Amino acid sequence: MSAGAPGVLFASSELSPWVKTGGLGDVSAALPAALAACGCEVKLLLPAYPALREAFADALVPRARIAPPGGELPGATLLGAPLAAASGASAGARQEPLGPDARRRASPGPSGAGAELLLLDAPELFDRPGNPYLDGSGADHPDNLLRFGLLSRVAALLASPESPLAWRPQILHCNDWQTGLAPAFLHYLHDGRGAASLLTVHNLAFMGLFGQEALAALGLPPQAFRFDGVEFHGRLSFLKAGLQFSDRIATVSPSYAREILTAEFGCGLEGLLRHRADRLAGILNGIDTVDWNPAEDRRIAVRYDANSLARKADNRRDLQQRLGLAPQDGVPLLGVVSRLTGQKGLDLLLALADRLCADGVQIALLGSGEAELQAGWQAVAARHPGRCAVVIGFDETLAHRIEAGADLFVMPSRFEPCGLNQMYSLRYGTPPVVRRTGGLADTVRDADEAQREGAQGNGFVFDAAEPAALGDALARAFAALRDPPRWRAIQRAGMACDFGWEPAARAYLGLMQAALAGPRTRS
Ligand code: ADP
Repeated sequence: MSAGAPGVLFASSELSPWVKTGGLGDVSAALPAALAACGCEVKLLLPAYPALREAFADALVPRARIAPPGGELPGATLLGAPLAAASGASAGARQEPLGPDARRRASPGPSGAGAELLLLDAPELFDRPGNPYLDGSGADHPDNLLRFGLLSRVAALLASPESPLAWRPQILHCNDWQTGLAPAFLHYLHDGRGAASLLTVHNLAFMGLFGQEALAALGLPPQAFRFDGVEFHGRLSFLKAGLQFSDRIATVSPSYAREILTAEFGCGLEGLLRHRADRLAGILNGIDTVDWNPAEDRRIAVRYDANSLARKADNRRDLQQRLGLAPQDGVPLLGVVSRLTGQKGLDLLLALADRLCADGVQIALLGSGEAELQAGWQAVAARHPGRCAVVIGFDETLAHRIEAGADLFVMPSRFEPCGLNQMYSLRYGTPPVVRRTGGLADTVRDADEAQREGAQGNGFVFDAAEPAALGDALARAFAALRDPPRWRAIQRAGMACDFGWEPAARAYLGLMQAALAGPRTRS
């Protein structure tokens, strides 16, 4: 550990590429490594999901025994392995959803060098199929309270003077509701002694809500069930607890940090967030610039960079051929890779899809989620063969091919804490069409607005969450696409953006140092 760089315990419920349902998995893979590169000693704490046990099987050693910590929480074993020691052992028990290339990075490499992975081994809670939150049938695991209650409880324990490990972090870094209860455990069960805590909110909409009886099951004292404790409208909320008790709060983009102070985006937590606004910072996520680099990407048909953009057309043809789209040049090809939920606003594009396809526009959509949206998109694909291709599922290779092969990438999110795909598409010379919200607003500059100000934009931005507003932005994008010199300038402006993790790691370091220097949170 270098002088001034704190020891960090990073607690999370996802870790790309092994256990990932969204951006949290990507951040958990990248940020600890970037913090380690800044000189921090970092340990990651995750549940011992089958996919992680398998990937690190050769290197795992028992590190400590955790006695049953109270309530209904079971005891557990803490296993440890160097994060760089993943073996990429045989496929099989890997948890969904993971792409077919999930083992690609499962080889010893520089990422995470120096960091240790700690796996919380409680087989009755974590050794099962399904993704971290849902069982095979898509229902919540019935014992998510105990699963993430134990994860939060052990995170607090390892950050406290009572830790069974000799190592003591200065910072406990929690992520989303799944580890959001840890600062409350530190407060109620360790008297606030131990590490300073930082909670990153990747998505405020998931609050980890349980009935009041959860209090006893978790071993929390009755007095914790107060409005200035863990209670939220008569229920216990893991996320609210984290917002209440963590010493610092981060969100994953500056715009989202401002938006969640309002009733529109605050999910009922805006009052508490406003109260704690002096502790709140927005830090834009980076992306994995090695994995997402069109000049080196082995998953796409033809590699290219800002000086060889003509080669992008080969990727376009490859995508059309693979997805059964008509092999046409000169028509816009829209790409989408997304969870299919109301948040992502793909119902707005769905409302326009028949007209777009009738006008000759092509759409390549990869995603999965709500049944109604899936069915709606599949119906469009059935009505417009050769114009609209819909792949329901999770497929990292196809995600790369869509980024490389599409002309435009569409992300009409109603809210977007950060968003990764718009940054990937900027890097791939595939200008994004986005709604002006959260991280989308922070990364995409509208080409027409910029032009009016004598500047250079990198995409297209609209405001109202309405199909007509999206339609206008698409029409403006199609006009730019018909002007090749202008189009190249827009593509190149996106490709010139730097979305590496170093600036984010430095900003987190600043926040951690502020947490250590400032007064600690007391309720
Ligand atoms: P969120 O975390 O809200 O889902 P982000 O844009 O922050 O949205 O991150 C989503 C991540 O998951 C990106 O890496 C994206 O490429 C990936 N992803 C989402 N859906 C799919 C899919 N169906 N197939 C492959 N990758 C996907």
